[in-house]
Amino acid sequence: MGKKQLRGMTLDELKAVAAEAALPGYAAGQIADWLYKKRADGIQSMANLPAAKRNLLEETYETGATPPVNAMQSADGTIKYLFKAGENRFVESVYIPSGDRATLCVSSQAGCKMGCLFCMTGKQGFAANLTAAEILNQIHSIPEAAKLTNIVFMGMGEPLDNASELFKVLDILTAPYGYAWSPKRITVSTIGLPKSLKRFLDESNCHLAVSLHSPYPAERLSLMPAEKAFPMADTIELIRQYDFSHQRRVSFEYIMFKGLNDSRKHAEDLARLLCRIPCRVNLIRFHAVPGVPLESADTAQMEAFRDTLNAKGILCTVRSSRGEDILAACGMLSTAKKDYICADEIS
Ligand code: SF4
Repeated sequence: MGKKQLRGMTLDELKAVAAEAALPGYAAGQIADWLYKKRADGIQSMANLPAAKRNLLEETYETGATPPVNAMQSADGTIKYLFKAGENRFVESVYIPSGDRATLCVSSQAGCKMGCLFCMTGKQGFAANLTAAEILNQIHSIPEAAKLTNIVFMGMGEPLDNASELFKVLDILTAPYGYAWSPKRITVSTIGLPKSLKRFLDESNCHLAVSLHSPYPAERLSLMPAEKAFPMADTIELIRQYDFSHQRRVSFEYIMFKGLNDSRKHAEDLARLLCRIPCRVNLIRFHAVPGVPLESADTAQMEAFRDTLNAKGILCTVRSSRGEDILAACGMLSTAKKDYICADEIS
């Protein structure tokens, strides 16, 4: 059995570790400082802990940092990293530099249960929830870690389907003992799982992004089987109960499929659905997924859709495509790696 990872533990969990080692309570704060502020690469670096206690901690724990196993850089500067997450399992993180922003898109699960038609990760099926340590490792272990300005939970998996680990990570990222980031630098994207979404809205001030993709339940169901268990009407009803007019932002993600959800009527009905919610809509180009008979809407159609929403008072932008030359669609690199490993093992 491997050692337990300290990076990924909340302050309360570190207090339990300190108590176990008969260290005073304040030592938990010292360990957190080494892990999250000083980026210690080993327990022996924690110089203000007594040497005997460092040796004792080392018998059971390690700081925990696993570098990516692969990286692909796009011509536009986007870098897709691949991390190992268990036996023959891989997850992706995408580093997206843009002007003075540097965003990392992180994964919360290996695979996903939600089975969205347009998503490569959905095609993989569900393999495992990532631990808080595995999620945080993506943020900690890329070479550009110190440059990051924003984190988006939009990689592989449904973050709110791994709520307990997600909330630990959000705590570590935003609490004074941890990275002390403003919640305004963090966005969690979800299809809308009501129980965990309510907890997220109650307990966190991070931004919210909701994957919508259609204003019509039946059409959304044809793209996203999860619409049956988690209807968008319930999600929108819940969102209406919270204030998004000041610090916190809610956005709705809308992948535009040619001839499917890109008509003027779609835009008008979407505006009606979202009326009086202070929000923005992000229009996203579809990156082709093998075996999926869907095409991206063209730029003119997307711009017309955007203009219709803007004219109805809904802030709408066409999100620029990044990293198309490195298999940008979520899940494609990890699937390629898995296939490669499987082929390797068979031959
Ligand atoms: S789009 Fe998101 S929720 Fe849907 S299958 Fe892919 S990872 Fe899961």
